[in-house]
Amino acid sequence: AKENGRNSIQVFDPAMAENARQKLGRSEELRRAIERDEFVLHFQPQKDMTSGEIIGVEALVRWNHPTEGLVFPGEFIPLAEESGLIVPIGEAVLRKACGQAKKWQELGLPPVKIGVNMSARQFQEPGMIRHVAAALAESGLEPRWLEIEVTESLLMRDVQGAIMKMHELNALGVSLAIDDFGTGYSSLSTLKRFPLSRLKIDRSFIADIPDDADDMAITSAIVSLARILALDVIAEGVETEAQAHFLSEAGCHAIQGYLFSRPIPAEEMTRVMREGT
Ligand code: C2E
Ligand code: CA
Ligand code: CA
Ligand code: CA
Repeated sequence: AKENGRNSIQVFDPAMAENARQKLGRSEELRRAIERDEFVLHFQPQKDMTSGEIIGVEALVRWNHPTEGLVFPGEFIPLAEESGLIVPIGEAVLRKACGQAKKWQELGLPPVKIGVNMSARQFQEPGMIRHVAAALAESGLEPRWLEIEVTESLLMRDVQGAIMKMHELNALGVSLAIDDFGTGYSSLSTLKRFPLSRLKIDRSFIADIPDDADDMAITSAIVSLARILALDVIAEGVETEAQAHFLSEAGCHAIQGYLFSRPIPAEEMTRVMREGT
């Protein structure tokens, strides 16, 4: 232990040092992964509740690691956020997502919206609007087919700033969805000020339907809220017919979840879009 200042004693903690070393190694690896273009997108369909048609697909990033195989976002997005690498990763995701959506349209498939997740660091980054505009221009995708998903907690951090960014995205013609809706604390009056097109009901409210009466009440309330605000509403994490049935009765517009499909690679998604199953 070494003395540091008057009262505090800094103890060398080998576990903490090891942890820091691992993080450094991992972010170095992430940096290389960006250069080597090791990120791939998987896609999960979103179905219209009434027609049963695929109306959108969400792009979900995976890291195709040279030795570890597919690494899921939960394992590298937090570190990417911390290190700022989320900005170049997010740019790559935007380009790939817009490119793939355009490709599907060129194959003659019925056009669908492509949903792209954007994390806080990326949303707040000064070049964000420029990156979105560039991804659209490069791919030739019309902006109305791009939907950016941001979380409620991200928007609540700086409401005024978020509203300005959202207006800029809207001006490009891009639409916006609130992801994981219901887990944050946005008030009705704040929500009203966001230029949004859709709410995505968080999976945690769906998981225990139809056994949890509270969750069913909350879900119905979110659907009503969407109606009042004239927003589209989609439920994520729908795994069972019972959940889909409840959501249909509640008036939810669309659903996404393992009931229809897990996130799948682009080629598989192409087949699903062709066959509609
Ligand atoms: P999210 O945006 O809430 O995405 C939904 C997650 O739930 C995905 O996990 C998806 O595979 C999973 N999921 C979908 N349907 C079901 C279901 O029926 N049951 C269950 N149990 N899970 C379901 P994934 O792909 O591991 O992504 C996790 C999170 O990582 C995402 O949560 C999102 O926050 C983040 N993420 C993914 N791709 C990106 C990206 O390109 N950029 C950023 N910034 N974040 C991303
Ligand atoms: Ca999402
Ligand atoms: Ca979500
Ligand atoms: Ca519950």
